[in-house]
Amino acid sequence: MYRVSKSVAFCYGHRLLNYSGKCRHLHGHNARAVITLERGGLDDRGMVEDFTAIKQVVRDWLEREIDHTLLLHRDDPVLPALQQAGERVKVLAENPTAEVIARMIYEFVADRGYPVIEVTLWETETSCATYRGVRS
Ligand SMILES: [Zn+2]
Repeated sequence: MYRVSKSVAFCYGHRLLNYSGKCRHLHGHNARAVITLERGGLDDRGMVEDFTAIKQVVRDWLEREIDHTLLLHRDDPVLPALQQAGERVKVLAENPTAEVIARMIYEFVADRGYPVIEVTLWETETSCATYRGVRS
């Protein structure tokens, strides 16, 4: 088995509902997603996947969907005011935790046909969450 990982940095804002820690307040993170792909063999270039191609695909999507965006639960009472003010908001059906963001990135990469096995979302330098998919 061969495994490669690509790291992509981005920023996002969020806050968590039903949570008593600091993340209950609106704030931002300088995050890093590490996308890990695996294949049993290499392609005719001797690669699992081209690092540049992975970065481009993920980077484009992150810039469109998450980078410099407030990720908020659909029940968050601050949502209408932020949307009315024209803020860049992405509404989720669940709390915008590192776990959920890792899964969102995983699902995007998997849907594009890449052999992704896991995505780790580093929310801070010391805290990360990993989503690992079940391969069919
Ligand atoms: Zn946070």
